[in-house]
Amino acid sequence: MIFQEIKERISDSGATLVAVSKTHSPEEIRKIYDLGQRHFGENKVQELMDKIDDLPDDIKWHMIGHLQSNKVKYIAPFIHLIHSLDRISLAKEINKEGRKSERIIPTLLQIKIAKEDSKFGLDIDKIDAFMEKYLERKYEFIRISGVMGMATFTEDQGVIKKEFENLESVFSHLKEKYFVNDPEFIIKSYGMSSDYVIALETGSNMVRIGSLIFGERNY
Ligand SMILES: *Cc1c(COP(=O)(O)O)cnc(C)c1O
Repeated sequence: MIFQEIKERISDSGATLVAVSKTHSPEEIRKIYDLGQRHFGENKVQELMDKIDDLPDDIKWHMIGHLQSNKVKYIAPFIHLIHSLDRISLAKEINKEGRKSERIIPTLLQIKIAKEDSKFGLDIDKIDAFMEKYLERKYEFIRISGVMGMATFTEDQGVIKKEFENLESVFSHLKEKYFVNDPEFIIKSYGMSSDYVIALETGSNMVRIGSLIFGERNY
């Protein structure tokens, strides 16, 4: 499928497309940028830092991968959205670096919805405990803008749909219990190349698509 088609399909649903450019060169990213794309996602801090200098500075960079606390300092000055807040120790670090950079850093809570062990994220039954600790500490330099999740890697569309619906329930729960008066708690980041159509049908408003745009990755 060509880029323009994917882009239209996503903007017709009112969702934001994050083009996942990990493993791809600044030249390849530039080609997609020239087609009007501005949101790009990377999953490794070092790789992101290696690329940004070669690319226009109006790109909105998303950190979509597991984030080590000691790397937050590199991205804090410019990152558009961190999708992978999943523990208090990381919140503490983001807050500290946000303070230094004098910016409130937008984040999403990464929720574990897949059955696979390897996926990072908060367990659904630990979300309230996380939120209570988080609110106690009054982090002034973090904004939680929504949730992020990844479905199990499976052909079974029913399983994927169920997991996305679970993420929708988590979002509603968080909204009602902790963010009811917060107009900025709005983002539901889920859906990748293989499952973004189901994601848009279920209510996703931010999809992260890599291989469908850039082709297969060579690691
Ligand atoms: C790589 C990646 C994607 C995109 O995967 P594709 O299957 O290439 O679309 C989305 N989200 C995260 C967190 C990723 O690491």
